[in-house]
Amino acid sequence: MKVLVAAPLHEKAIEVLKNAGFEMVYEEYPDEDRLVELVGDVDAIIVRSKPKITRRVIEAAPKLKVIGRAGVGLDNIDLEAAKERGIKVVNSPGASSRSVAELVLALMFNVARKVAFADRKMREGVWAKKQCMGIELEGKTLGIIGFGRIGYQIAKIASALGMNVLLYDPYPNEERAREVGGRFADLETLLRESDVVTLHVPLVDSTYHLINEERLKLMKKSAILINAARGPVVDTKALVKALKEGWIAGAGLDVYEEEPLPKDHPLTKLDNVVLTPHIGASTVEAQMRAGVQVAEQIVDILKG
Ligand code: NAD
Repeated sequence: MKVLVAAPLHEKAIEVLKNAGFEMVYEEYPDEDRLVELVGDVDAIIVRSKPKITRRVIEAAPKLKVIGRAGVGLDNIDLEAAKERGIKVVNSPGASSRSVAELVLALMFNVARKVAFADRKMREGVWAKKQCMGIELEGKTLGIIGFGRIGYQIAKIASALGMNVLLYDPYPNEERAREVGGRFADLETLLRESDVVTLHVPLVDSTYHLINEERLKLMKKSAILINAARGPVVDTKALVKALKEGWIAGAGLDVYEEEPLPKDHPLTKLDNVVLTPHIGASTVEAQMRAGVQVAEQIVDILKG
C-alpha cells in the first residue's frame, strides 16, 4: 500500500502510517500537474486545506481508495468525482474544536481589555492608560450563534468564567445546553441581550451575511462581536460601519470575506478590532489530532 502525503503532517500521524507498514511519499503542496505524476500507483492521498484534489488528479489515480483531509473543510476535494469512483473521503471534524474555542477566548479578552491596542501604543512610546479602560467578562452575557462542537467548547469555558450563556441554533441540543448552563433564545433576543456575540455556524446559503446591518443594529452599543467561523457569515462593509459609528464597541476576527485580508483594508485602520490570520486550528495539539485521526481512518479503510 502506498500513501501520498501531499501536505505537512504531524510526526505522530506519520508513525501511524509507518506502523501499518505503508510505503510513503511526501511532497509538500504539489500542483495539479505534479499530482497527476505522483498519484499513478497510490492507494491513499493525505491533504490539508491544500493542495486541490481535482477530477483530473482522481482520474490519474486508478488504485486510489481513500482521500484524507487533516482538518475540516472539504472544499479542496472534488467530492463528486471521488463518489463516482467509490473513493472514500475522510476528515477530522472535532480535532481543532478546543483550539478554535481557546482562540475565541483570547480574542474576547483581547478586545475587552484592549490588549493589541495597548501593545501598539507601547511600541510607539505612548503610555495609553486612559484609553485602555476595559470591561470584565465575569457576569456578562455571551451569545453563541451555532451550538455545535466549537460552540459547546466555548460555552464550557465561558460558564467556568462566570458568564451567562445564551445559545442560538436551529437544531437545539437541550441536554448539552443544560450541561454548560446555557439557555436557548431566538436570534433577535440573543443579539439584543449579549455583551459578547460569537459565531460558530458553517458557511451555507442561510448563514451568508447572517450578521448584516440590521442585526448589528440590534446589538448593544457596548457589545463585542467575534467571528472565527467563516468570513462571509458577516457583512464586512456593515461591520466596518458599525465599528466606525459605534453601533457596537469592538470586534475580534480570525476569518475574512477575502483571505488573506488585503493590505490597507478598512478593518486594519480601526483601533477597536483585533485581527488574526485564520489561525483557529493552528496549534500543535490540533494539528497532531487532525493528522492522527485521518491516518487511523486511512489504516482502517486500507486494511479493513
Ligand atoms: P458543527 O457542525 O459542530 O456546528 C455548527 C452548528 O451550527 C451546528 O450545531 C448547526 O446546527 C448550527 N447551525 C447551522 N446553521 C445555523 C444557523 N443558520 N444559525 C445558527 N446555527 C446554525 O461545526 P463546528 O466544528 O463547531 O465548526 C463551526 C464552524 O467553525 C465551521 O463550519 C468552520 O467554518 C469554522 N471553523 C473555523 C476554524 C478557524 O480556523 N477559525 C477552524 C475550524 C472550524
